[in-house]
Amino acid sequence: MNTYLKDKSVRHLRAGRFLVTLASAALLLGACQRQEPMRLYGEAQGTYYSIQYYDPEQRNLQPQIDSLLQAFDHSASLWVDSSLLRRINAGQTDSLDDILQFLLQNSLHIMDYTNGAFDIRVGRLVQTWGFSFKQRSEPDSTTLAGLLHAAHSTISYDNRRLLRESPDTELDFNAIAQGYASDLVAQLLDRHGIHSYLVDIGGEVISRGLKPDGSPWKVGIERPAEDRYSEPVVQTAITLTDASVVTSGSYRKYYEKDGVRYSHTIDPTTGRPVQHSLLSVSVVENQCWLADAMCTAYMVMGLDSARSFIAAHPDGPGTSAVYFIYDSCGTLKEYGTKDFMNLVVKK
Ligand code: ADP
Ligand code: MG
Repeated sequence: MNTYLKDKSVRHLRAGRFLVTLASAALLLGACQRQEPMRLYGEAQGTYYSIQYYDPEQRNLQPQIDSLLQAFDHSASLWVDSSLLRRINAGQTDSLDDILQFLLQNSLHIMDYTNGAFDIRVGRLVQTWGFSFKQRSEPDSTTLAGLLHAAHSTISYDNRRLLRESPDTELDFNAIAQGYASDLVAQLLDRHGIHSYLVDIGGEVISRGLKPDGSPWKVGIERPAEDRYSEPVVQTAITLTDASVVTSGSYRKYYEKDGVRYSHTIDPTTGRPVQHSLLSVSVVENQCWLADAMCTAYMVMGLDSARSFIAAHPDGPGTSAVYFIYDSCGTLKEYGTKDFMNLVVKK
């Protein structure tokens, strides 16, 4: 009897709570429907950020977001002179903070998984080819051999310290860091109880929840442009719910010499900028850093190898929802995996 009463009272309590939840949800929904999203814009990681979120309390979280992104740049950016990464590369320290430990650990895993297509040891190669903060120059074969030696020397970590076989090996997290910064901003919004948002740091996008009117967030994927000055045009749009999408392209960041366009992505095997028909890759994944890293890996592989990789790793990370835009004899073509095409907004 006692048990029955106890159970019954628990049931009442639960039902009561449920009704309260329903009522407050209805109230919130009513309030949210009239609500405009908060929109924040700024700069981080050498690029822009654009963040939208719905918050019934209309809190301005820009100061918190800016300080998170500043701390991030102070750790992993190659554009900030005194960043920890710049100091590590210069041999001034080998100790890793939380951000670099995360990036290093996961980068080593992706390097292995992609058979070295994604490789953070390209630091000096990137600087030499001129896509980072130094002047561009085409290395002669002796210089290239030296750079490749540094880029192929072993790196690992132990007890939050970077271990380098060669002091010439410099790390470059640019192909994964923006994605991870987006993840961290998303986590900050989660901690503040924001359930509907779209975070975009330089094209590395994360969405959470639905908008208050019940519609999903939509993200446009840019058509590869003629050159870096062209106005962006949307090639396709996808719905994105509780996921990330990242696009890497060879059409905005490149340099041209003697009529040849050099991409800012380096093939770690040859030490040279990749040159093939693949114009852009988009990857949808749960974590933004993973989508970011896999996009770069596919850009290195090129269309055919990337498609073989996807076929060979049906359950592997970064292979289910992928979209390629490529050039076929002067015509723009596209290929998307089934899971990606299911996200495309029907016109
Ligand atoms: P974006 O988002 O700007 O298209 P990515 O995410 O592909 O760029 O990152 C490109 C940057 O990553 C380059 O500018 C360089 O700093 C670095 N990088 C170049 N080649 C590689 C590579 N094979 N693996 C990892 N990082 C690379
Ligand atoms: Mg990337």
